[in-house]
Amino acid sequence: MRVVLVAAQRPLRESIAAILETRGHEVIGFAEAGRALAHLKEDQAANAFIVAGAESAMAGMEICWEGRLLASFERPIYIGLLSKPMSSDNMVEALDCGADDVLQLPLSADELYARLRSAERFNQMQLKLVEMATRDSLTGMLNRPAFFERAVKMCREAAAPLAAIMVDIDHFKSINDRFGHAAGDTALRAVAQCLIGRGELAGRLGGEEFALLLPQGDPDEAWLAAEALRGEIAAREINVETADLTVTCSFGVAIGAPRDDIDDLLRRADAALYVAKRAGRNLVAFFDPETPDVPNRPNSVIRCHVDPDDRSLRRAAG
Ligand code: GH3
Ligand code: MG
Ligand code: MG
Repeated sequence: MRVVLVAAQRPLRESIAAILETRGHEVIGFAEAGRALAHLKEDQAANAFIVAGAESAMAGMEICWEGRLLASFERPIYIGLLSKPMSSDNMVEALDCGADDVLQLPLSADELYARLRSAERFNQMQLKLVEMATRDSLTGMLNRPAFFERAVKMCREAAAPLAAIMVDIDHFKSINDRFGHAAGDTALRAVAQCLIGRGELAGRLGGEEFALLLPQGDPDEAWLAAEALRGEIAAREINVETADLTVTCSFGVAIGAPRDDIDDLLRRADAALYVAKRAGRNLVAFFDPETPDVPNRPNSVIRCHVDPDDRSLRRAAG
């Protein structure tokens, strides 16, 4: 494991580091808790935090608590408090303060190794469960709940408006019908590969529908990004068992407004997407409430004025 170790006394720090390094653990040692916590915060690969020989039981617990605040579902951190023998009450408090273990000094090396082996098992299990809960197993993209969870945070923290792009594969049902469900899966993976990494956030929202969030809400850049993806996906040859096929996607782009929430933003992008579908598919439609309709030109921007709540539009698009 990569262990951030805080121990004020140098001999103690060096002896614990030596014990850990003997078994292949990587140790970054600090004399001062503030610096150790700052390192733990920055170094996302550090997955264990050991607090040893703190001035008092209370001081050790406080450092554990600060360390616990840096852990999350996606970033498990094992926290071990190494201290002089402490009362049962203090032990209870230390565990409630976020320590996973309280080990007594002088240290038993074998006990520490065993605790870290157990911690590693738990960390790996947690990471696997988080991956299963947040990733779509077919494409590896974020699934719908995980996309929305991150998107809400991104909207809240964004300094500038974001751009959203909704993507839907055209006539996907006919790919399943003509080439089989496995071929459809291959096509879904191919489209996902084009989308992954193309926005700050990318997710599979459902069947053959994806969403991207771009960090800057510049309309021209968002349109260019969607148009580039449209061309790339349409040009990509997808090899399935019985054929080489191509798919196209329709795109809806919307730009965030101040105090927008993710539902509003995606609803506008979705409304634009349905305009792209209605106008012939393999198109990018840009939601622009300021601009009235202009005649549609295939494979170019459709400046559309649509009401995202207009259900008739969805029926017309269908
Ligand atoms: P449109 O251009 O209007 O979007 O038409 P479409 O055929 O793409 O849309 P429709 O909603 O009629 O069909 C979507 C199909 O996607 C139906 C469903 O069986 C298929 N689908 C959804 N999830 C999966 C999946 O994981 N794998 C495969 N192979 N097909 C899927
Ligand atoms: Mg579709
Ligand atoms: Mg769809």
